[in-house]
Amino acid sequence: MAALNVRSVLVTGSNRGIGLELIRQLAGKSKSPEFIFATCRDPAGPQAQDLKNLAAKNQGIEIIPLDTCKPSSIKAAVAKVTEQLKGSGLNLLINNAGIVKPFTALESETPEGMLEVYKTNVVGTMMVSQAFLPLLRKASHESSQKGMSCSKAAIVNLSSECGSITNLLAWEIAHILNYRCSKAALNMLTKCQSLGYAEDQILCVPLHPGWLQTEMGNSAMPAPMTVEEGVQKILDTLSQLSEKDSGTFVDLEGKVLPW
Ligand code: NDP
Repeated sequence: MAALNVRSVLVTGSNRGIGLELIRQLAGKSKSPEFIFATCRDPAGPQAQDLKNLAAKNQGIEIIPLDTCKPSSIKAAVAKVTEQLKGSGLNLLINNAGIVKPFTALESETPEGMLEVYKTNVVGTMMVSQAFLPLLRKASHESSQKGMSCSKAAIVNLSSECGSITNLLAWEIAHILNYRCSKAALNMLTKCQSLGYAEDQILCVPLHPGWLQTEMGNSAMPAPMTVEEGVQKILDTLSQLSEKDSGTFVDLEGKVLPW
């Protein structure tokens, strides 16, 4: 299996859950990325302690404040990353940050919940992608690799099969319209990104990470898979993605899912 050979990677929401495990495994690789930008909205807060402990042991991890819903925070993060990269581009942007307003039924969903979740899961992801686009383009253009790959230039948006219109995962367990609608919209955003950035050779995929044991994953009932196992599969899959996958909806094992 080809290894993920990426020089620089940025993960949003990396202080806990899937984001933190992505940073842990990326930093633990034998050929780890030179630049691992671990971003989170409150690096000084108690929720970031595990990430800070990890960064203390790994020189390649750079913790950067980034609230994906705040334009000023995004702008400051882009400036910091640009400075660190010293003229080179960013290979891989993983838009992992996401929220859910759990336990809402069709009848009890609120306009506020719908808007808050849409703002984080869709608008935030769009704004972060727009802001980092110049660095992604730079990485793509400076690469000698043929075709698209996550090692060259890519946007990976953490989606969910809960947002699949064909296959509404776990409808019996939770309606969560706020989350389902936001992930369906995120899939459309990613499809549009794949079309819009094809000329720049930036690979774009929405990826369903599986049902993993994180705060979010365990919110309705215990999730079946550990976050370690899930993230291992995700990273293996990222190493395999190529041009043909851009604009498709994939799961942690690289299987194409129906929209
Ligand atoms: P968690 O709830 O465990 O973690 C969510 C992360 O997102 C936290 O780091 C949180 O930061 C961060 N976050 C939320 N809002 C913002 C924001 N505005 N700016 C920056 N960071 C933010 O979720 P998971 O790790 O389980 O999920 C990660 C992604 O995977 C999500 O997009 C989720 O929808 C998706 N997913 C997860 C599944 C699972 O089974 N776990 C299944 C399908 C999809 P903070 O600590 O500050 O709140």
